Parts: sequence; C-alpha cells; structure tokens
Amino acid sequence: MDPSLPTEPSSNLRDGLNLRVGLGDDTHRLGQGGPLRLGGIDLESDVHAIGHSDADVLLHAIVDALLGAAHLGDIGRLFPDTKEENRGRNSAEFVHEAVRLIHAAGWQVVNVDCVIQAERPKIGPVADAISARVGELLQIPADRVSVKGKTGEGVGPIGRREAIAARVVALICRS
Ligand code: MG
Repeated sequence: MDPSLPTEPSSNLRDGLNLRVGLGDDTHRLGQGGPLRLGGIDLESDVHAIGHSDADVLLHAIVDALLGAAHLGDIGRLFPDTKEENRGRNSAEFVHEAVRLIHAAGWQVVNVDCVIQAERPKIGPVADAISARVGELLQIPADRVSVKGKTGEGVGPIGRREAIAARVVALICRS
C-alpha cells in the first residue's frame, strides 16, 4: 500500500459526511394585478404569480432544496397540486412541514442561497425583508439567508414578465 495515502478519512472528510447540499428550482406564470407573494411576504407589484397554492416561487424552491438535501423527496410528492387541501394554501405551511421533517430526520439548516429571476419588481430593495421572513420560517438568522435578484434582460419568459423563477441551494448538517 502506498504509505503516502491516508489510511482513514481525514477529519475534514468525516465532517463532510455530516453535511448535505440540496438544489431547488421553481417557475410560476404571472398574471395581471398584485400583490406578488414572494418569500412569505406580499410585495407591491402590478403582477401576481399563478399557481395551485399561493404560488410563492421562492418558498417552493427553498422547500425542494431542503427536501433534496435530506433525501426526503420533493414538494410535489409532499403537497400534490391535485389535492384540494393545497388550493390557495400559504406556502409558509409547506416550509414549516419541510423544516419539521428535516429536524425529525436529525438535520438542521445551515444556510440557503437564493436567486430570484424577475424582470420586476426589483429584488434588491426588498431582499433584506425577504431574508428576515425566510430566516423566521427556517428558524435560522437572517444572515444565513442570502437573496439575490436577476432580471431576464427583457428577453424570454422572465424578461417578457410572463413568468417568475427561483433557484436555491441549501446546506444542512447533522444536528
Ligand atoms: Mg411552485
């Protein structure tokens, strides 16, 4: 055996086994008339997101990132859009349930990094408010919830304001 190779995993590698990363991605169509529910708050806007629940694209992507990290399925399996009980439902309830499942499986949320793709409203001015609300929902400090906005540069379904999308990575660790 090559003596230069470690015979057991380094502590860094062992620690790494207690971490998991997850990815969430969601898109919703937009319709005329606000407000826009995003990250658990209602933003002043001339459009709203269309969906079976309250169509909160950011919270949906966060739920999928968390469930993916813990290998607990996905939002569609947990809260099917074919179920009447999920019609118009507050997506904060989806987050509560996902966090409950994560904790029950022996994990805790470390941080989330979020990208919201929307032509308008501008995300920058409301990013701190969204971080604060999402932090409450995830039971972590707001400085572990990063929220960034990207426009569609006027092209594609985002740029034409036909849709809004969110991408989220979440890190969880063994509690
Ligand atoms: Mg959705």
